Amino acid sequence: MSALIYSFDHPAGESLDALCLRFGNKAVGLIEMTRLGLPVPAGFAISVDAGRALMAPDAPFPESLRVAVGEGLERVEAATGLRFGDPTAPLLVSVRSGASASMPGMLDSVLNVGLDRSTLDGLAQRGGRRFALDAYRRLLQMFGDVVLSVPRDVFEKLLAGTKTRLGRPAMLDSELDAEALEALTTAFEAHLTHASPALFPCSPQRQLELAITSVYRSWNNPRAQRYRGLQGIPDELGTACVVQAMVFGNHGPRSGAGVAFTRNPSTGERQLYGEFLAQAQGEDVVAGARTPSSLGAKSAIPGREDRSLERSDPEAFARVEQLAAALEVHFRDVQDIEFTVEDGRVYLLQTRSAKRTAEASVRIAVSLATEGKVSRDEALAMVDANAIANLLRTRLPSAEELLARDIKPIATGLAASPGVAVGRIVFDPEAAERMAAEGQDVLLVRRDTTPEDIVAMKGARGILTAAGGLTSHAAVLSRALGKCCVAGASTLQVDYASGTLTARPRRGSDEPPRTFTVGDTLTVDGSTGRVYAGALDVVAASTLPELDTLLAWADERRTVRVRANADTPRDVRAAAAFGAEGIGLCRTEHMFFADERLAALRCVVLAIDEQERERWVGRIESMQRGDFEQIFEAMAGHPVTIRLLDWPLHEFMPRDDASLAAVAKDLNVPLREARRRAGSRNEVNPMIGHRGVRVGLTIPAIYRAQIRAVISAAVTVSRAGRAVAPELLIPLTAVGEEVRRVADAVRAIAEEVFAELGARVAFKVGTMIELPRACLVAGQMARHVDFFSFGTNDLTQTTFGISRDDSTHFIPAYVDELGVLPQNPFRTLDVVGVGELITMAIDRGRAAHPGLGLGVCGAQGGEARSIQFFADHGVDYVSCDLSRLVVARLAAAQAAARIARSPH
Ligand code: ADP
Ligand code: MG
Ligand code: MG
Repeated sequence: MSALIYSFDHPAGESLDALCLRFGNKAVGLIEMTRLGLPVPAGFAISVDAGRALMAPDAPFPESLRVAVGEGLERVEAATGLRFGDPTAPLLVSVRSGASASMPGMLDSVLNVGLDRSTLDGLAQRGGRRFALDAYRRLLQMFGDVVLSVPRDVFEKLLAGTKTRLGRPAMLDSELDAEALEALTTAFEAHLTHASPALFPCSPQRQLELAITSVYRSWNNPRAQRYRGLQGIPDELGTACVVQAMVFGNHGPRSGAGVAFTRNPSTGERQLYGEFLAQAQGEDVVAGARTPSSLGAKSAIPGREDRSLERSDPEAFARVEQLAAALEVHFRDVQDIEFTVEDGRVYLLQTRSAKRTAEASVRIAVSLATEGKVSRDEALAMVDANAIANLLRTRLPSAEELLARDIKPIATGLAASPGVAVGRIVFDPEAAERMAAEGQDVLLVRRDTTPEDIVAMKGARGILTAAGGLTSHAAVLSRALGKCCVAGASTLQVDYASGTLTARPRRGSDEPPRTFTVGDTLTVDGSTGRVYAGALDVVAASTLPELDTLLAWADERRTVRVRANADTPRDVRAAAAFGAEGIGLCRTEHMFFADERLAALRCVVLAIDEQERERWVGRIESMQRGDFEQIFEAMAGHPVTIRLLDWPLHEFMPRDDASLAAVAKDLNVPLREARRRAGSRNEVNPMIGHRGVRVGLTIPAIYRAQIRAVISAAVTVSRAGRAVAPELLIPLTAVGEEVRRVADAVRAIAEEVFAELGARVAFKVGTMIELPRACLVAGQMARHVDFFSFGTNDLTQTTFGISRDDSTHFIPAYVDELGVLPQNPFRTLDVVGVGELITMAIDRGRAAHPGLGLGVCGAQGGEARSIQFFADHGVDYVSCDLSRLVVARLAAAQAAARIARSPH
């Protein structure tokens, strides 16, 4: 049987990792600090397993545990020269909780255990009566709360009553004199005896056993349970318990308790950072009854520098600084330290890796590596990849750079909410809402906004108002929503009736006014307040230089490539600026939003006559060719994967009378006939209806036009001397034969284009793997293609049978409240289910086609834990949204470093 307890000064033998599971984090920190010879009060840990016997409501304290605790105490007594329960030189201990996962402040601890009326005088010998009584009233308070479940406000009321009786209701606890404390402790005692006569008063030995029992049981308090639910910490883990000799921060003028961070946890700055409370025990620092002073003079509130530990006790401050530096070097990370000063001597009571902001984590990782305290791999592993998405933002080039290219703002308003937004201008909030829901980039333009506009504002890329200030509704709500907003651009005239926006020139300028209509594209810069005509390119703006360094290290380390999902030439250029090594998914649907294109697509679908259809198909081909040329140019030879039309036809069909009339006119048929044909395309479940390859095979003219456009664009760009690497992607395949037919068609059509243009380019053909059947028959599919691209959004939808759009009604409850799922599978790959299908598809696909390329293009391709899975399974690249590119670059590097370090 493994030992129930482990003394901090136990001769080293076992690894600390192994000890952590049995004795918890707090104990391991204390054991390690003791091994390093640092000033840690003597103590021992009791194992998680020992506590299991104590969890039942009336469980007796096991004899074996009593013996083990007795042995632990003897070592502490030997180290301190005190004796537990001794009337003349009593040893007092803290009884502390501590699991192997960090749960700060969630579990209970009791201090000053071993103090009762029989040992009080002995303690008074050490530091005076007032001190002893202060320690005693603290014990009664904590013991009452943790062990006897007496509500805390009972003590607060008795305390307040005492102060009022003394005529000083505002006095601090630390100002109560011996006499007042005498009265107070007597009142506390009476209350506890009354509340639990069977448990109080009790001997020091019984106090200790009850405290230990309660600390273990605090594992199941509602606060801790909720925290575990949120953090995904398993309930079975259990807590361990620490028993440790007390040191007293309430001992006199050169005493106190504090918390220190080895670096600033919000900025990452290299400075000792923290708080200190003189004449206090540890629990006071966090309780907030008194305002602690800062450790360093520099970080003190101006005017309060003298209260800082640095000024009030420079020696103790220097010692804390020295200990903190040693801990950081030893633990190879920023530490969050609890310490107590007793009569000028500093003791360490806890150390752990500090929680920090995303920004600080990047700074800290890079500086620790630069200072030689950790390796680069360790630095990469230190940063939570998912947390850094917002540290790289988009911004416009500076006004000067733009001016040099002859680009001038059409108006300048107030920089109301930062960011850059490009979109088509829409004045009507309802129209904005609808267009945004269709996936269009919308810029909501209003004179000013009202609370009813919130849905439109949420869906819009950005908001532009002509009236209102920095505290206007539009400005305030935009900031709350994290939306880019320019407010009060007063030279703009918004005319709702005519649907126009007129930019008056600045006074003194001789330029003519410019007028824009609904659907025109503008770019607004919420960081400068400038408004530009057209879609301007953005550049990547890192908020801190250390991020650039970290990403450079990550790029060197990773083997998995990182591509972006981007649909327009402008998005592709932005992706390149964010470090994308290609486009993993270019959705052609977005190219059909412009009115004339939508009209052409509708005619292709609704035409009955083949010749008629050919005419419209020709238009689509020539319109798309231009887009693809720009996209290939922007990616400068990096691979670009273009997905053939995937969306349900249903979604492109005309609905309102005006668009039906337009189609009728274009096709030269009566309105009734147009309505009938459009109606016949209606679907009950478009998501699993006539879409993807099913459209490709039943109306081949559409894919044919797209394939011709891609290949001829590639030839054109390549002829102009630029490298191109086009890849065509077939969506929603479930059957090997679907893949064979479309892949063959791609190759045949390409040959046809090459012959026409008299030049060739290399290209690839791949299929999406996004249906469970595709995973099963991956072997049959792989023969016909160069690569697979896992569409993890649809694969998750179809594997779970949950539509992503509707999942919001119950997935949050499943994850947070009910704990049915560990995480949202639409964000983090469901490794056990969907991951199993992916594994099967990879194995079967590669067995049939050894050189098969593998990519991922769903949302999970930009999520750190999912990327770890993809990297482990030999995926060549992940592709994600622009905003997740940095996450993917870092996560891929972390995966590489972990694979390199694991023993096989
Ligand atoms: P938590 O996990 O909630 O921080 P702790 O077990 O760390 O709880 O203890 C609560 C407070 O009591 C801390 O401020 C700690 O530093 C202090 N403390 C714990 N043990 C001792 C001790 N032996 N002597 C002095 N202070 C202590
Ligand atoms: Mg603590
Ligand atoms: Mg899909």
